[in-house]
Order: sequence, then C-alpha cells, then structure tokens
Amino acid sequence: MRAAVMQGLHMPLAIETVPDPTPEAGDVVVKVGRCGICGSDLHMTEDPAYGQGAGSILGHEFAGEIVATGKGVEGLKSGDLVSVIPLKSCGHCHACRTGAVQWCETFGLQGGGYAEYALTRPNQCVRLPASASLADGAIVEPVAVALHGVDLGRLTIGDKVLVLGAGPIGLAVAFWARRFGAGRVVVQDLSEWQRDRALQMGAHDFVVDPSDPVGSAERALGGKADVVFECVGVPGLIAQAVDQVRNDGTIVLLGLCTRPDTFNSFAMLSKQAKLVTSAFFTRQEYEAALDALDRGAVEPRLLVTDTIGLAATPGVFESLRKRTDQCKVLINPGE
Ligand SMILES: [Zn+2]
Ligand SMILES: [Zn+2]
Repeated sequence: MRAAVMQGLHMPLAIETVPDPTPEAGDVVVKVGRCGICGSDLHMTEDPAYGQGAGSILGHEFAGEIVATGKGVEGLKSGDLVSVIPLKSCGHCHACRTGAVQWCETFGLQGGGYAEYALTRPNQCVRLPASASLADGAIVEPVAVALHGVDLGRLTIGDKVLVLGAGPIGLAVAFWARRFGAGRVVVQDLSEWQRDRALQMGAHDFVVDPSDPVGSAERALGGKADVVFECVGVPGLIAQAVDQVRNDGTIVLLGLCTRPDTFNSFAMLSKQAKLVTSAFFTRQEYEAALDALDRGAVEPRLLVTDTIGLAATPGVFESLRKRTDQCKVLINPGE
C-alpha cells in the first residue's frame, strides 16, 4: 500500500510503498476513507517528546471501511463503515468497561491514518450512523476532545466563556460552549484567519489585539470570563488566562505544551482560580460527538477547509507549519 511516512524529526514526510497490514487474531484492517491532519501530528515531527521517528505513519483522526478481520473478531465485518477511536485500549479492563478508554492499562496512541490501510482493534471502532459521512467520521476526534474539555469546564447556563486559540479544538470548544448554554462566547487569536468560521460555529465575538489581550477580551465578554479554555499550548497563556478569568472561575487546559511554563501562583490563588487539565475523551463523549453530527449539527463540518490526496500530503503537511487560512485538512488516501 501507499503511505505518507515520517522520515525523521524536522524532515518532510515521503510517499512510500509499504507492506499491507495483515490482521493478527483480534485485529481489523480499515481502508482509510478520510484522515484529518492534526496540529499534534505536526508537533510529532518536531518534538522528540512524542516518541515518533523515521518509519512512523502518523494520522489518528480517521474513518473508513473494514476490509479484513483477524481470528476471533465478532460484531464487525468487511464493508462496515467505522470511525476509529485513536486510543489503543484492551476493551475489557475496568477503565475500558466504564468508557474511560484513555486510562486503559494498555493505553497507547493509535496512528497509521496517513495510509491506504490501517490496523486497529474492534473495541476502538465506532460504527458510522447512516447519515454520517467518512469526513464526519474523521472529525469526530477533535470534536470529542473539545466536548471533554467543555464538560470538565462545568459551564453554567449564561456563563461568559473565553476561548484562547482558533484552531480546530478552540472552534469546536466554541461550538460546544454555545450548545451547553453559554451566554457569551468569545474566541481570541493572534490572526483574523478564522473570524468568520468562529462566528459561524457559535462564537458571539472574535478578538485579535495582541497589544491588549486581557482588556480586549474583557470588553468583548462584558467582564472577566467565568471559564477560559486554553486551546493553544504556548508558554505564557496560562498566566494570561489567570488575568482573564473571574474570581473563583475556571481555566481549562486543552493546548498541548511540551515546554515548561510559568505563572504566578499568588495571582492564581488570590482569585481562587481553578486550573483543570483535559486529556483525550471518554468513549461516551466520542459517541456523543458523532451523534451530534448524525443528528444534523452542521457547525463541526465547517472545520474542514480542504480534502487532499495522499500524493499531495507531504507538501500540504509542510505548508501547515505556519498558520494559513486552513483549519482542518482531510486526506483521502484513495484519491
Ligand atoms: Zn488530533
Ligand atoms: Zn482497557
């Protein structure tokens, strides 16, 4: 099969012919229909903290068709369309049984979506409902990440919500926050690229004012935020969020930052701000995100700005290292 293969840190991906995956007992092979390019995929090729190197096939946001099943697989057959939960899990430990698949004893990250075929396990497959497309199946993951964060933010109806960062996760947070009954949702970014998309997805306002991030957000919200969602992952933004949250408010950390960060704990304690971190999602949240798409939520689909073939993937992947007007780019490996 053809795949976009990692050549090493700080090197472009290359299209290679690699062996087709063959299913061991309990495995399934998915013919990848759509796979999203995620900001963390870009980070994986830049930062050794992610543990990826030459030969890795990235891609954890994918959906497709089951084309082969290993011995002992029940409940799935060739032809079934599934979205793949990219959290490797055993399916039967206590964590898995309760849906908290991110805490499975055998936890690992699933990749492999930048290829024509990918190997996974049946317990990671969620069947696509009839009205959900393969593209829907590929965007479920970031939408579920955002849902998990918004759930942990414990929004109260009418809350003022500030979202830092207008990437796919930030925009999906704006979508869910509005659905959860937030009274005012403001997205803050350093560029105007995603203004229209943010407003279409549920934000009431969009602010860009690097010279006065705290004041500009406060004016747009009509006060300090009840909940701030940090969806960037750059040092300094927790400190900024501390200035932007109200007394006794909540900061939810969704942005992945692998560098040390500092903030003034006195400032944070003085207002009793709660700092909550949000990692991955539960199976129930993944299914709820897919259900929202199935039931006709159009906003998450606005995240997709382009669909490309495998051959174009290395070039487009490089172009996404600097910010552009792209939001979520999907790969169609069969194209
Ligand atoms: Zn992702
Ligand atoms: Zn498990």
